[in-house]
Amino acid sequence: MHNTTKETCEACGARMTDWRISTDCILSRCPECLHIKRDLQRCSAHAREHAWGGSGFFDKIRTTMTMGRLNGLLPVKKDLKILEIGFGSGKMLSKFLEKGHTVSGIEAGMLKIDINERLKKEGKLYFDTIENIALPEGEFDVIYGIHVIEHVENPDIVFKKCYEALKKDGVVYFLTPDGRSNGLVLFKDAWWNLEDPTHVRFFSDKSVNIMLRKAGFTSVKTGTPVWDSLTLEINSMLRYFTGRPKKHGVLEGAGTKVIDAVFTPFALLIRSIYPPLSPTLEIIAKKT
Ligand SMILES: [Zn+2]
Repeated sequence: MHNTTKETCEACGARMTDWRISTDCILSRCPECLHIKRDLQRCSAHAREHAWGGSGFFDKIRTTMTMGRLNGLLPVKKDLKILEIGFGSGKMLSKFLEKGHTVSGIEAGMLKIDINERLKKEGKLYFDTIENIALPEGEFDVIYGIHVIEHVENPDIVFKKCYEALKKDGVVYFLTPDGRSNGLVLFKDAWWNLEDPTHVRFFSDKSVNIMLRKAGFTSVKTGTPVWDSLTLEINSMLRYFTGRPKKHGVLEGAGTKVIDAVFTPFALLIRSIYPPLSPTLEIIAKKT
């Protein structure tokens, strides 16, 4: 069913169409750039009222891989200026601080607890949404956001602010759910990325390209890494088969951690054989 809606695509301006992925979930999808918008009224989360924290062990692997990717993008010198959007408890920023860089962070949530003491003292931390913050211009070598841009109210403003806050040759790095992942087609409304009610959009490679170029970026590269959101397929299957009854989502289930630990390696194997299943879009854009 592909009814045209009144909504226009926030990336390319085309008319969005309805995409009924299950009996009780309709997404809006752009027929031109495949950008997806999610309205909770039409596709509820069936679960938590809040964003998830993830599961410890697999989060560590993810953080290590992400740090590796970021380190590969950084110029080889000390005292880089680094900004993280949505720094959470500040694990990654603390590591950059320890390496001798100057770090700033933005956190709109209520995760002010458990922030590393040194980071609180030596980092420049903002507690608000990025849309509301005045950032210094031409300041940063790197700005990154790990699973952030699917939540923000206005990605145009966010990308523009990033562009202006970067130095020449500065880089932005984002990870975000991939709206073109076949996991969404396979798991439908049980796709774990739909469990978070604050996921309001899923970018496609094309839509994020359009929006970043609109903000001024001239070099935009996207990819689909297999190492992010490691337990997504297993958690999606749990959601699929348990009917998603949990108040705090699938991670609340008693056996979830064990099931994740046992089956995730198989899911990752399938992902590496069949990359269209990968749930994440990796985005690297440069200010030239
Ligand atoms: Zn579009």
